[in-house]
Amino acid sequence: MCRHAAWLGPVRPAASLIDDPEHGLLRQSYAPRMQKYGTVNADGFGFGWYDGSRPVRYRRTVPIWADANMPGLAAVARSSCLIAAVRSATVGMPIEETATAPFADGRWLLSHNGRVRREALRPLAADPESMCDSAWLASAVFARLRDGVPLTDTLPAVVRAAAEGDPQARLNLLVTGGTEVAAVAWGDTLFTHLEEGVLVASEPLDDRPGWRAVPDRSLLLASPDGVSVTSID
Ligand code: GLN
Repeated sequence: MCRHAAWLGPVRPAASLIDDPEHGLLRQSYAPRMQKYGTVNADGFGFGWYDGSRPVRYRRTVPIWADANMPGLAAVARSSCLIAAVRSATVGMPIEETATAPFADGRWLLSHNGRVRREALRPLAADPESMCDSAWLASAVFARLRDGVPLTDTLPAVVRAAAEGDPQARLNLLVTGGTEVAAVAWGDTLFTHLEEGVLVASEPLDDRPGWRAVPDRSLLLASPDGVSVTSID
């Protein structure tokens, strides 16, 4: 399972998800504390931020600790909306940039932490950029968003349909749009930390008090109006 994290709030660097916190995604790439599937996340990484309303991303297939340019870039990639992920490829999935989160479409950036049979997504997926299951899932979400379906309807609908086709599916999703962050907990851990903004992460990025577990099978939405968690069972 991969690990992912996002931020919505006052402008911060991507490093605030990766190498600033003690247990940020850099540390989680080789020493995650709550990972149930896989032990290291060495099959690539990516992060995304917003330049005004335009999403920018950086994706690599090397382990995050092996990219000497990452710390410098993550320190200056500053935004009020951030997303980052480190990857442990599911067996049989390709290791290539196009299989690495964050996936992008329009203003949307997306990361998937989990596993799903692609056959379950066949009716939903639309022109995925990779054979990776996460790319198929991303394409299914993006297709609905492009049709104008609101994010808070799109995510439960895609997750329910995928889980119907593959009851074993693990479908933790993280989506940013520049002014909002949405996350699904479905089969793996998800945590939030409210401060002057909201941190969302597969597992806590540090040992400060205040990290709260999001119940399984729920949808979290963070926007300038606040944070809500709703059941999607
Ligand atoms: N199934 C996805 C992949 O192969 C995500 C893997 C994960 O969450 N570890 O990249």
